[in-house]
Amino acid sequence: MRESKFKQEEIIELENKHGAHNYHPLPVVLSRGEGVYVWDIDGNRYFDFLSAYSAVNQGHCHPKLVEAITKQANTLTLTSRAFYNDKLGFFEKKITELLGFDKVLPMNSGAEAVETALKLTRKWAYEVKGIEENEALIIVCENNFHGRTTTIISFSNDEDARKHYGPYTSGFIRIPYNDLETLNTTLDNKNVAGFLVEPIQGEAGVFVPDDGYLSKAKALCEQHNVLFIADEVQTGIARTGKMLAVHHEDVQPDILILGKALSGGMYPVSAVLANDAIMSVIKPGQHGSTFGGNPMAASVAMAALDVVIDEKLAENAELQGQLFREEMNKYIKNSKICTLVRGKGLLNAIVINDSENSDTAWNICLALRDNGLLAKPTHGNIIRFAPPLVINREQLLECVDIISKTLSKFEL
Ligand code: PLP
Repeated sequence: MRESKFKQEEIIELENKHGAHNYHPLPVVLSRGEGVYVWDIDGNRYFDFLSAYSAVNQGHCHPKLVEAITKQANTLTLTSRAFYNDKLGFFEKKITELLGFDKVLPMNSGAEAVETALKLTRKWAYEVKGIEENEALIIVCENNFHGRTTTIISFSNDEDARKHYGPYTSGFIRIPYNDLETLNTTLDNKNVAGFLVEPIQGEAGVFVPDDGYLSKAKALCEQHNVLFIADEVQTGIARTGKMLAVHHEDVQPDILILGKALSGGMYPVSAVLANDAIMSVIKPGQHGSTFGGNPMAASVAMAALDVVIDEKLAENAELQGQLFREEMNKYIKNSKICTLVRGKGLLNAIVINDSENSDTAWNICLALRDNGLLAKPTHGNIIRFAPPLVINREQLLECVDIISKTLSKFEL
């Protein structure tokens, strides 16, 4: 059933004409979502295998989240932190108890939360660790993705993200991901204050480090009195089969960064968690945000966490993720176009056998769309598959079938 008086091309043209061209969207215009499905304006239904870059882990328009946000929207939306509101404290209690930290600092976007963690680390470096003013260094990884602010892109090695945005912020050392030896030698520098790492590099193409990398990296950081900062904006909130990806290795970060699915895609909510010894360095007036910690955000985040726990979404992500990789591997065994499936839980990717600059992965995504499944290449020839965590076995098998049949049309 058509849901709009406009054609998809007309709406796409509107964006082309009036919007900045900072994205390259797949040509499909969506107007409705429910659970694992989204619909375009012509009424065509698709499995959503991107989940808004893992923000919609709880599924589109989850009724409990819709209820939480509409109820709060009808009651009180924004007070700013100039005053207390009757929701924030309950959210803070809930998330800190759930994840085992003394304190949380709420923000809005993932990038803002990363910025907060970087500022917190620097302040801790000067006021607690005793590093000389302006000398603190933070170790980051090659191929990292932590957001789009000027400081964050300063330590990116993605030329598209960086080029012509200088001058860049200094104070970062980039080392290869999944390389404990280099981490160890870099930690010898007494000015190192923190190590910022994604437990799985999502944007880079779902790179899963070796088993033991995170726990050993954490231990090395402890030995050197350096903060282990986990960016779980994409991997957190059950995406990889545990509430946090670091839980696969029983790691408790010194600073934890969350975003995206913390609100189930309803509203931008992000957070930084740490214990008092770290968080207490930030005092009134030293950091903040007009929207951060507002009652809408607090209400929806509490509901989003409840849904993840009550519906056992981490367990489901683990189960369905294993099934996905098993089934995809059956296809890949005899495939020439697809060489690898990798991931954890329901954060997975396939690698397409073509050059990084080819448009094969893009064309496969167009064909997947035509067959009822939405996904996008991450980098070049890698396609990420990250459906909402509410997907069931039957739906997952149907999706594997769509993916396999689509890939078979591209076999060499
Ligand atoms: N950190 C990671 C690991 C991410 O994947 C992202 C976004 O994809 C961000 C930070 C930035 O989040 P946002 O786009 O909400 O600023």
